[in-house]
Amino acid sequence: MSGIPEEKALKCVICKNGETEPGTTSILLERDKTTLVIKNVPAEVCQNCGEGYVDEDTTERLLQMAEEATKLGVQVDIRQYIAA
Ligand SMILES: [Zn+2]
Repeated sequence: MSGIPEEKALKCVICKNGETEPGTTSILLERDKTTLVIKNVPAEVCQNCGEGYVDEDTTERLLQMAEEATKLGVQVDIRQYIAA
């Protein structure tokens, strides 16, 4: 799972070694009965361990997508990230 960065090009908190660069990551969201995997999410990605850090706007969009899926009664799905 991913943390939320305070600023760009942060040091990775997982491996405490790598630095992040812009890239994409996959995010797993679980809500009630819905499990959603969203791929190609824009993120700062650790060059050492691959951990992805998603910014606030993107997180909000991910939560929106999760909510839509929950409303539709989706149980498990894998989707591509679509910007709002
Ligand atoms: Zn790392």
